[in-house]
Amino acid sequence: MEKIELLQGDITQLKVDAIVNAANKSLLGGGGVDGAIHRAAGQELLEETRSLNGCRTGEAKITGGYQLPAKYVIHTVGPVWKGGNKKEAELLANAYSNSLRVASRHGLQTLAFPNISTGVYGFPKEKAADIAISTVLDFFKRHSNIQKVWFVCFDQENYGIYEKKLREHGA
Ligand code: ADP
Repeated sequence: MEKIELLQGDITQLKVDAIVNAANKSLLGGGGVDGAIHRAAGQELLEETRSLNGCRTGEAKITGGYQLPAKYVIHTVGPVWKGGNKKEAELLANAYSNSLRVASRHGLQTLAFPNISTGVYGFPKEKAADIAISTVLDFFKRHSNIQKVWFVCFDQENYGIYEKKLREHGA
């Protein structure tokens, strides 16, 4: 069974165990996918994230999904792209691996990621896709309880990049 699936669309509509939010450090909502998730989940999500005291770049925290079809939201903070010499690649890999770890620790089986950091945070899309795919594949080698990961691309450009990169990675 394929463990990685590619999808173009709105991550808030997915009925999976958890969707991952590309949040900012405050965890109080924002634009892009973060705003969409908060709008779709409703006010209770904000009430829960307020109690979490924010999140460091590369780390991940879990909340309920409230009005979303997904049971949980895993909030992670990707790095802002600053040219490539500020540990951006490592921090993006951490955002993916820590989200997977949190999901695994909670016994979750299905998980959907947006293209973390490739919107307002400006991370180059090709490089970000490589990191996302290799981090997930690496995680699959060592852990078994996660059954399926969806990469959800909102824009056509990312979708095309993921199609190509997944092929290259043999995934
Ligand atoms: P970041 O600040 O991490 O760059 P953004 O939300 O600006 O976060 O962008 C991250 C990615 O999420 C972008 O590729 C953007 O196109 C995508 N995105 C925006 N809205 C949605 C949505 N509703 N579902 C899935 N992906 C989305």
